[in-house]
Amino acid sequence: MRYISTRGQAPALSFEEVVLTGMASDGGLYVPEAVPQLSHEDLADMAGCSYAEIAFRVMKPYVGGEIDDDTFREIVRDAYATFSHDAVVPLNQLDANHFLLELFHGPTLAFKDVALQLLGRLLDHFLQKRGERAVIMGATSGDTGSAAIEGCRHCDNLDIFILHPHQRVSEVQRRQMTTVLADNVFNVAIEGNFDDAQAMVKASFADQGFLNGTRLVAVNSINWARIMAQIVYYVASAVALGAPHRKVSFCVPSANFGNVFAGYMAYRMGLPVERFVIATNANDILHRTLADNDFSKQELVATLAPSMDIVVSSNFERLLFEAYQRDGAAVAELLERFQDEPSALAEAPLARLREMFASHSIDDATILEVIREAHHRTQEILDPHTATGYRAAERQRGDASVPMVTLATAHPAKFAEAVVKAGFPGVPLPPHMDDLLEREERYTVLPAELAEVQRFVAEQRR
Ligand SMILES: *Cc1c(COP(=O)(O)O)cnc(C)c1O
Repeated sequence: MRYISTRGQAPALSFEEVVLTGMASDGGLYVPEAVPQLSHEDLADMAGCSYAEIAFRVMKPYVGGEIDDDTFREIVRDAYATFSHDAVVPLNQLDANHFLLELFHGPTLAFKDVALQLLGRLLDHFLQKRGERAVIMGATSGDTGSAAIEGCRHCDNLDIFILHPHQRVSEVQRRQMTTVLADNVFNVAIEGNFDDAQAMVKASFADQGFLNGTRLVAVNSINWARIMAQIVYYVASAVALGAPHRKVSFCVPSANFGNVFAGYMAYRMGLPVERFVIATNANDILHRTLADNDFSKQELVATLAPSMDIVVSSNFERLLFEAYQRDGAAVAELLERFQDEPSALAEAPLARLREMFASHSIDDATILEVIREAHHRTQEILDPHTATGYRAAERQRGDASVPMVTLATAHPAKFAEAVVKAGFPGVPLPPHMDDLLEREERYTVLPAELAEVQRFVAEQRR
């Protein structure tokens, strides 16, 4: 399998190269050159299989023989053995035909674990094979950092440095990162805000001289392997609900569009999907684009669903590439124009998107109302991200005879602020984490100065 850039100018890469590379050299994102197909029979044969087995079968064509089957099976099995539920991603029925797909049973209680548990192991495998080591650097305001740390803590060939803004992340989120006491995990609290941390990571990728030739790897959601890992739960849940014999719809709380793009890939592989509903909070660029063809940046709004607070959805580019029928030049032109001025999609690509995608956006007051309403109707306490999905699914349901699956992207205990604001006493952490607030922490506080941070990384890496 070869991977090509959405902007059409970067060299095609193998799977191994694409896992080790972030953005393409032309500024685009990598996508598979051809979409592997799952036949009616392939899907029917998955009924009753374990999640790890379905994961192996769905992802195998993307790996394209670059890892032998036994080794890849073992990597997948290990990755999903870290989840606390035997089903890995269980379905929870809310009403006659609306289901929650619980993606929060991994080590950090949010769906990013599904991809990062696999990505850490894939990186380690390829580095081992090449006899190389690598450094991961990332900035986080919460969710991604802890999932990346959990995904890499057992990787011998990786050192991971996660920068968070000092005293500006919630205690639970900080402790999920700083209580991982592995030798290859380095938490850095930057005396500054998230943008300062992010800027230092970007500068380090742009000029990697301070690492004397060691590879710097990004684990953000533009890494193809993260999308690939997320395709699996769309297939597994649809099969559990009767695919390939009947269609399913999905509703996805969205920000950078990695999650819902993975669903679209499952559809393109042959999964019978009726529609995708994109749910957003007040940061609604995806909803504005689909509903009004208003493809423009707006000010960032801090919401009760902070992991969906974005200005631009980086992975939307991958869908645009398909909507523009893989015309990389047209995608590059649209996205370059969009950097500086409000833009709009051409008519035909927009019409193609509207065939498969609907959208809905809600503000903070509505998030609280939905948490109360969902509890009243179903006894479930939803986290604020999942709440955007619950409302969007109800509003954009379409054919009521088609099962609707709303993706539950985080455990409510992780976002207690919203739950308490909605009038509930809070949600206890699950048993394997109930001593989180007593565990030993380790982190280093550094000033927001690039040279100091880079010196720390260069000295501490093993
Ligand atoms: C990251 C995240 C999202 C958004 O996912 P995208 O793939 O960026 O669209 C939604 N909910 C939670 C809890 C997240 O952590």
